[in-house]
Amino acid sequence: SDHSLVYPASPEQMNWDAHYPAFVGTGQTPEFADVGCGFGGLLIALSPLFPEKLIIGMEIRVQVSQYVQDRITALREIPPDLLPSTSTPDAPPPTTELSPDASSSKPGPYQNVSIVRANSMKFMPNYFPKHSLSALFFLFPDPHFKSRKHKARIISPTLLAEYAYVLKPGGIVYTITDVHDLHEWMRTHLEAFPLFEFVSEEVLRAEGKGPILDAVYTSTEEGKKVERNQGEKWLACFRRIEVSRD
Ligand code: SAM
Repeated sequence: SDHSLVYPASPEQMNWDAHYPAFVGTGQTPEFADVGCGFGGLLIALSPLFPEKLIIGMEIRVQVSQYVQDRITALREIPPDLLPSTSTPDAPPPTTELSPDASSSKPGPYQNVSIVRANSMKFMPNYFPKHSLSALFFLFPDPHFKSRKHKARIISPTLLAEYAYVLKPGGIVYTITDVHDLHEWMRTHLEAFPLFEFVSEEVLRAEGKGPILDAVYTSTEEGKKVERNQGEKWLACFRRIEVSRD
């Protein structure tokens, strides 16, 4: 259950500085969001490809999100005196600790990725300002998201309205699954939604998004599992249409 989770009241309340200390002062908010990021394989793959963009994973499971956080911390190779401390009671809170010249130097590796523990099916617009995301990822989502209720699935007309709100016009929704039924479900709903249009893999590759697609196919733990089991992968991508109807 997620009733213990705390959500920002609005995107302005969200303290991204704590997530991306190397970007403090830039006013940047995440541009890529990986919904149900699991163990974080996509985040780690995208980070070096887009060092100037902020990338966020959303994951509901406590231990999994903690694992991803630890993974990112390790990758950042934060010096020991800046690591969250359990020993010195008067140490500054790790979330606000900055290197003095953080804004003047190039961010180090993996400074641009982070994770929030959240139920992404709730309050998405509380995290992300309107039209702030250029990519939204749904990679190998649980096929039975509370399966008795279809509206509880990660893709539904209500949630699509929220995704369209947080995505920039021209932004891309990437979906991939090894479950053909779920693929059909996601594709049908996205196609039917007036603010999204299908975009082929070929077109996206021609636009230079090949490295993103490669990561979508192969970088996540679930994607690797499907490969080991020689399962099929069904990709469907959609563009948030440019015409402003909202
Ligand atoms: N995308 C990852 C991958 O490809 O390896 C993980 C796929 S896994 C099958 C689905 C993940 O979505 C799980 O880690 C699960 O905890 C998470 N999840 C399910 N419902 C969620 C929700 N409402 N909000 C955030 N994460 C959720």
